[in-house]
Amino acid sequence: MKTAQEYMDSLRQMSGEIYFMGEKVENLVDNPHFRPHVNSAAMTYEVACDPEFEDLATATSHLTGKTINRFTHIHQSNLDLVKKVKLLRAIGQRTGTCFQRCVGWDALNATYSVTYEMDEKLGTKYHERFCEYLKHIQENDLMVVGGMTDPKGDRMLSPHQQADPDLFVHVVERREDGIVVRGAKAHQTGAANSHEILIMPTVNMRPEDADYAVCFAVNLETPGIMQIFGRQTNDERKMCEMDQGNRVFGIVGGETLVVFNDVFIPWYRVFMCGETQFSGMLVERFATYHRQNYGGCKCGVTDVLIGACASMAEYNGAARASHIKDKLVEMIHLAETLHTGSLACSYEGSQLPAGNYYPHTTYANVTKQNITRFIYEIGRLAHDLAGGFIGTLPSEKDLAHPVIGPVVDKYFKGVATFPTEHRIRMARLIENMTGGTAMVESMHGAGSPQAQRVMLLRDAKLEQRKGFARKICGIIDDEDQ
Ligand code: SF4
Ligand code: FE
Repeated sequence: MKTAQEYMDSLRQMSGEIYFMGEKVENLVDNPHFRPHVNSAAMTYEVACDPEFEDLATATSHLTGKTINRFTHIHQSNLDLVKKVKLLRAIGQRTGTCFQRCVGWDALNATYSVTYEMDEKLGTKYHERFCEYLKHIQENDLMVVGGMTDPKGDRMLSPHQQADPDLFVHVVERREDGIVVRGAKAHQTGAANSHEILIMPTVNMRPEDADYAVCFAVNLETPGIMQIFGRQTNDERKMCEMDQGNRVFGIVGGETLVVFNDVFIPWYRVFMCGETQFSGMLVERFATYHRQNYGGCKCGVTDVLIGACASMAEYNGAARASHIKDKLVEMIHLAETLHTGSLACSYEGSQLPAGNYYPHTTYANVTKQNITRFIYEIGRLAHDLAGGFIGTLPSEKDLAHPVIGPVVDKYFKGVATFPTEHRIRMARLIENMTGGTAMVESMHGAGSPQAQRVMLLRDAKLEQRKGFARKICGIIDDEDQ
């Protein structure tokens, strides 16, 4: 397993083509816009080397029998699924933000299962190939980003109908030694500081979309791959230590648009190529694995936010007020409701034909659907508890200024025994955790709300539920007569 330091050193040696604010980024690790995201991902390496987290953060590879970082593990039991959720919460408590590495973990588990079923049905040889790739990831403890979301263009058109054929990643050439791909994947959390990307299709496809039903893995340094890093709310704050709020780990994951300009992928890295009938299965598997997570990581992050609000109440002298306690209780209730959803879908998970374990689909979708609401409610309560000054605070530079610094210190003070700086730091943290980019991730990460609702309805067994009602109210069905 890599240490956090070794992970950072490995990134320094990479030479991917990454742009931010119109400029090529040469040294990502030491760039203040990227460093917080690197630090956050590095925590997935740090905990694996910490004896306290050995049980949660490491696992035994079912392929090699070696001890591996759990973020590269294929779930072998319901307990593995539970440990995943608990691990994500524990890391969220230490970073207060997204640590990105779960996306690739979910992509590995989804692809592992689908390649097996594809081979069983079609006689292809993808699973064995994929297992070799997985061994490479496990043995080198690599960070993989799971590449699912295509730009998608006109949402009413399927991939092959788009005016621009590149709006979904697709095969442009099939060669004896591999394929050439073109297109892009959007909103790729952690891609800038990952080693590899595992590309999957983003929608269910029909036979006409065969060139778009493609799954493959590629090193992000490969020629033809270019990344464009997105702006975040308040990202200029990264130039000021205190004003960032979460100075070490930043805001959410750090996302890029990953562009593939005719990239060559050798066959041994290709895990689906034209099997449209399995694209929907891969999308659904990945989505369910990722939706399972949100009552893990977001609860860990919410634990930090609840702690920030409780601290702020103390700094404001309001901690004993009953309405303050009640709002904190409400935040706790919402956070633990989210966590129980993630635990439930893990405990109720089942074994797939490939042998790995898979969360209960409905419960995973319910969990993610709740996230799209509860995180906003938690944010609303945090704003209420923190007070309006989180929206009007002067900067760290004002506090340090020889003339106005003492004025800021005097008038932003709460309870006399707490330093003003502590109150400002806590306010910035609450602002950071409840601002634009952080909230949007809760809404759209792992799929927008409607994507969960489609799956909830599909698995709802409405006919069975109608039958329950008909019987109880005395309507006799034809088959009952
Ligand atoms: Fe992991 Fe997604 Fe949570 Fe980020 S938001 S920590 S990638 S599950
Ligand atoms: Fe996410």
